[in-house]
Amino acid sequence: MPPQDPWEMALQQFQVAADHLSLKRGIRECLAYPHRELVVHFPVGMDDGSVRIFTGYRVHHSPVLGPTKGGIRYSPEVRLNEVRALAMWMTWKSALMHLPFGGAKGGVTCDPRQLSPGELERLTRRYATEISILMGPKSDIPAPDVGTNAQVMAWIMDTYSMHRGYSVSSVVTGKPISIGGSVGRSDATGRGVMIAAREAARLRGMPFAGSRVAVQGFGNVGEAVARLMHAQGCRIVALSDIYGGIYAPEGLDPIAVRQHARQTGRVEGFPGTEPVSNSEVLERPCDFLIPAAIEGQITGENAARVQAAVVVEGANGPTTPEADAILAGRGVLVVPDILANAGGVTVSYFEWVQDLQSWFWSEGEINEHLERIMVSTFNRVAALAAERRVGLRTAALIAAVSRVADALTTRGIYP
Ligand code: GLU
Repeated sequence: MPPQDPWEMALQQFQVAADHLSLKRGIRECLAYPHRELVVHFPVGMDDGSVRIFTGYRVHHSPVLGPTKGGIRYSPEVRLNEVRALAMWMTWKSALMHLPFGGAKGGVTCDPRQLSPGELERLTRRYATEISILMGPKSDIPAPDVGTNAQVMAWIMDTYSMHRGYSVSSVVTGKPISIGGSVGRSDATGRGVMIAAREAARLRGMPFAGSRVAVQGFGNVGEAVARLMHAQGCRIVALSDIYGGIYAPEGLDPIAVRQHARQTGRVEGFPGTEPVSNSEVLERPCDFLIPAAIEGQITGENAARVQAAVVVEGANGPTTPEADAILAGRGVLVVPDILANAGGVTVSYFEWVQDLQSWFWSEGEINEHLERIMVSTFNRVAALAAERRVGLRTAALIAAVSRVADALTTRGIYP
């Protein structure tokens, strides 16, 4: 069976929430379309003297609640429908967290691992220039996502600033600290996922310390969540990256695995572990399963084999609607992406505020605010789920969609 199209998945989830809210037809249709979509094809001079054409996207799903916010993804898999889905999820995520942002996403179809640092910089600067007609600290603020990092954000900030003639740090978040980035931003998504898992344990009456955790993905999110949950006394029993995974029922030290991955380029081969495939990591015995890679990983095909009691979505869209129904039927609690991984955009918001005010907070202040917002939003969603007798995903979407729909109704349709 071909993988489910992410945009179809996002629309399906939206319709469920819209039905619960009995949204009026006009509002429902407005929110089911991305507000604007930019597709760019641009040349990059390669190291061997040749010129290659790359395709990039920037999609604004909804600017109703404020400047659009969302990451930029570099991956061979990037397609318009994937970017559309990720942009819609950003609208709901920001609305759910009560951040004054709309939702956007961008991407370039490329394999960043196959590009030299020079090629990556030229690609980034040209892409940033191409999307600069949409980008700006008051209009659209990018951030890192799969395949991009703080250095890529630095090139985007520099390119935008060169065109303006002065430094504009607030145009992008997830930057290096030396140019206006925020302390605590690089671990923020993982920290938020850890907090969501801890709150889910509380909701379920499960012990958190000593619980077994499997993490799919060992990038910015997966590595941090494994490290932070390990520090809370959880046992990390399985980890994977794009090349494959490792399983150790007695538990792993994520910091040692990171060291190994830095030396060898992959987690596989870490001493004392059993090699497993990337998809097998999802099916190993554990209490918490944390998909922290890409969308469409837990599907109608493998959901019945998930052994975890709780799935905490570090990635965006890792569980298909079909898998959601199977997991719910089996009593598996799913903490949805727009709640579980919202720590990233929440600290991005703190970074943007700090840049606009040129007033910087301590790491303690950042983590305290993040903790408070994550816990209160988790409780709000859990209470709504109990009241409406729905799962956490539907509850989170109901809360988010109603906030955007209210703003849209209050503002009215222009002209
Ligand atoms: N790419 C991250 C996400 O999917 C962060 C977005 C941001 O900080 O703007 O939530």
